[in-house]
Amino acid sequence: MPGIVRLHGHRGARGIWPENTVMGFQNAFDLGVQIVELDVLLTKDNVPVVTHNPTLMPDTTRDERGKWLSNDALKISDFTYQNLRRFDVGGIRSGSDYAARYPEQAFLFGYKIPTLADVAALCCQPTYQNTWLNVEIKSTPLNEGLTPPPAELARHTIDVIQSFDLQSRVIVQSFDWRVLREVELIAPDIPRSHLTYLDSAAPVMQPNIYENSPWIADAVGIADPADLPAIIADMGGSVWSPFHENVTPTDVAAAHELNLIVNAWTVNAPDDIERMIDAGVDGIITDYPARVQRC
Ligand code: MG
Repeated sequence: MPGIVRLHGHRGARGIWPENTVMGFQNAFDLGVQIVELDVLLTKDNVPVVTHNPTLMPDTTRDERGKWLSNDALKISDFTYQNLRRFDVGGIRSGSDYAARYPEQAFLFGYKIPTLADVAALCCQPTYQNTWLNVEIKSTPLNEGLTPPPAELARHTIDVIQSFDLQSRVIVQSFDWRVLREVELIAPDIPRSHLTYLDSAAPVMQPNIYENSPWIADAVGIADPADLPAIIADMGGSVWSPFHENVTPTDVAAAHELNLIVNAWTVNAPDDIERMIDAGVDGIITDYPARVQRC
């Protein structure tokens, strides 16, 4: 809708609540955030769970004795869901870089990695009938076996969405466009959002848009980032979700010409939020919903 900017709470509202927890999502909804973004992976017993990295994150994970993990070698897909539940993800390790990035996040006890079904059940409560989920399926084509095959990730994730009849209140996004192809095969009516991150001199995470990238499925080589909207539209995408530093007003206009929705991530600084609003994006994915609400 022209003139409307939709707010997506990133991992709930990571700036203030522990990320990817049901409590964080519920509090985000209660703050007036209509859409929350969350990350999905699979356990060994194929339960879609809501957590960001393919391995447990040492800076946010304590074991049943309250000890922080010593490394990031524990793969989510090596745990049954029952075993994963023994970890507490309600706080950030003080002194870590991660804690320095989110100094206002609450530190809580007793919060488990939720299942996607837990979050879907929240959205089905009468109070939350108008909420949406922006479900990011985490997959990498770079490390064989680190994440499950795209078809498995897509199938089990869509199974949960359909079992709660949430198809009309969900967007599925991924940096790994192979996953989005699988989602298209299973549930073509669920809107697919193509995440993009351009290569740069000092990328803050793995880029997915570069020459001969394995992240972009059957899309033809991307010679010019300005071609991204056309390529995504060609693939049947509904949404383009670029890193905010990689998108200009011209790009947004080009995407709108192709009837794409543009959701920029992860926009936290007030200046960047203003810049994205001025660029005409449709959605802003942020760790700090209140900063967008106050713009
Ligand atoms: Mg995400």
